[in-house]
Amino acid sequence: VLKMDDVDFSFGEQKVLEGIDLNLLPGERMALVGPNGSGKSTLLKLALGAYRPDRGRIFLFNTPLRQFRDWSRIGYVSQKANSFNQAFPATLREVVASGLYGKLGLFRWMKERDWHRVDAVIEQAGLAELAHRNIGELSGGQQQRAFVARALVGDPDLLVLDEPTVGVDAPSVDHLFRLLADLHREKGISLLLVTHDIETAKPYVDRVVRLNRRIAFPGNDEKRKPMQVVEG
Ligand code: ATP
Ligand code: MG
Repeated sequence: VLKMDDVDFSFGEQKVLEGIDLNLLPGERMALVGPNGSGKSTLLKLALGAYRPDRGRIFLFNTPLRQFRDWSRIGYVSQKANSFNQAFPATLREVVASGLYGKLGLFRWMKERDWHRVDAVIEQAGLAELAHRNIGELSGGQQQRAFVARALVGDPDLLVLDEPTVGVDAPSVDHLFRLLADLHREKGISLLLVTHDIETAKPYVDRVVRLNRRIAFPGNDEKRKPMQVVEG
């Protein structure tokens, strides 16, 4: 569902990723780990077309990224999704519903069955009692869970989550991972998960890959060596 083929990426002079090879198979669940600043979030954004690689090729569902249009097949929660302030004028239910806009077309009205879908996902995510609360009034962990629900509402084939468990309490983390396990079992959803809490995530993924500093890199400035993907 996601293939990266010898991808390099730099921010200006800083080479962040080099020679990235990654192949996420249909129905596979992969955890991506690595230290702060190693380029995990950048790798996800590259895979989703937010940045353009310097070199190499990226495919989504066997389509070259540049030609890929079927974004409703992908659910994404960015690392800083949960940073709404009090004044943000939308309810949790509306935020989750906005996950359907791509699928419906920007200016189409929500139909009754779309709202049914929204409410079903909110229920599944254990957020029913918060549905009509303003998103900005919810706690960080509650917002984070709302964003996972938003990513799921369009029934994606691939879910890309950037540290979805940060600031989420243990029972809710459990609930999230069990939800992901259900989706995997019932629908064969693929998962690309960035996490620092690999011990918790491990039972719920099929493969762990790590971003490591490249060893063969000219120069001895450790800090400037780009990262590559290694298994395990
Ligand atoms: P964390 O575990 O802290 O989330 P990360 O592995 O997700 O870290 P990235 O956010 O991908 O790391 O950042 C990788 C490197 O790229 C860092 O050195 C960071 O400073 C740099 N970087 C990230 N975003 C930008 C940007 N928009 N412009 C310039 N440099 C950036
Ligand atoms: Mg990150």
